[in-house]
Amino acid sequence: MAVLSIDMGGTKTTAALVDNNFRLLKKQKILTLGKKSRKIVLENLSELIRTYPRVSFHKIAVGFAGILDFDKGRIAYSPHITSLNGFAFKKYLNNKFKKPVFLDNDVNCFVAAEHYFGCAKKFRHVIGLTIGTGIGGGIIVNNKIYRGRSSAGEIGHTIIEPTGPECDCGQRGCLETFVSGPAFARQYWQKTGKKKTPLEIEKESFDKKSVAYAIIRNAAKNLGLVLSNLVKAFDPEIIVLGGSVSRTKTLFPLLKKEVENNLKPLFKPPLILPTALDENAPLLGAAYLARKSKRFG
Ligand SMILES: [Zn+2]
Repeated sequence: MAVLSIDMGGTKTTAALVDNNFRLLKKQKILTLGKKSRKIVLENLSELIRTYPRVSFHKIAVGFAGILDFDKGRIAYSPHITSLNGFAFKKYLNNKFKKPVFLDNDVNCFVAAEHYFGCAKKFRHVIGLTIGTGIGGGIIVNNKIYRGRSSAGEIGHTIIEPTGPECDCGQRGCLETFVSGPAFARQYWQKTGKKKTPLEIEKESFDKKSVAYAIIRNAAKNLGLVLSNLVKAFDPEIIVLGGSVSRTKTLFPLLKKEVENNLKPLFKPPLILPTALDENAPLLGAAYLARKSKRFG
C-alpha cells in the first residue's frame, strides 16, 4: 500500500501517494501559508490530506522545512513556518488521521532520495544541499543519515562573516545570507540600486563583466569555502546540490574550481553534481525513510 508523502516547505506544500515501486501518484501542490496562525496552517494541511481517501495509504511521511527534535517528533524551529515552532507535529497528525506518521527534515529526505534513487546511488558518504530561499543540508555517513543530537546538517547557518547581514536564525553572516535567492537580490540592489529577481540575476551573470556575475562569483567563493571545509570534516564521495539557486549555470564551474583550489594538494575533491530528482526528491525520500523507519506513533 502507498505512503502519503508530504513535502512541507516555507512557501509551498506538495503531497503525493508513493506506491511500493516508488512511483508518485496524485501529486498536488498548495500554498503552505507559513506566516499564518497555527490553526490556519494545520487546517490548510488537513484539507490537503483529506483529499486522499483514507484507504489509499497506510502511513504519512512528512519532510518539513525546519529544525526538528527528531526523537520527539516536534518542530524545534522553522524560520518560514513560525507558528509551528515548538509544536508536537507528529503526535498531532497521528491523533488526527489515525495513521503512523514519519517526520523528518526536508533536506534529510532530499539527500536520502538522492542516495537511494538519484545521483548519489553508488556512494556511502554523501552531503546534500538545497539552495533556494535559504540553504538546507543533509549528511549521509556510511549509508546512514547523520543527525548529531538532532539538528546536524544545518550547513546554511555556518557563519562565514561574524559582522555580516542578520540571519533568520538570530546570528549574523551565515552562509545563506550570502548564497541564496534573496541574498542575490539584496546584493544586487545594494550594488546597483536596482531590483532584480534571482532568475534575472542568473541571466545577467552570463556576461562576465556584469554586477550579477560578480555576485555569483562571490557566492561560489563563499559556498566553496564552506564545502571544502565540510570535505575536510566528512570526506564525502559526492556533494549533491538541489533547489532553485543550484540551477544557476554560472555558479557550478566556479564552485567546482573553488572547492578544488581549497583542497589542494592534500585532499581529494568529491564529485559535485546537481540533483537527479529535482523537486520530487523530498517526497521520494520521505516515503523511503518512512518505509525503512521503525519510529512511528
Ligand atoms: Zn543563520
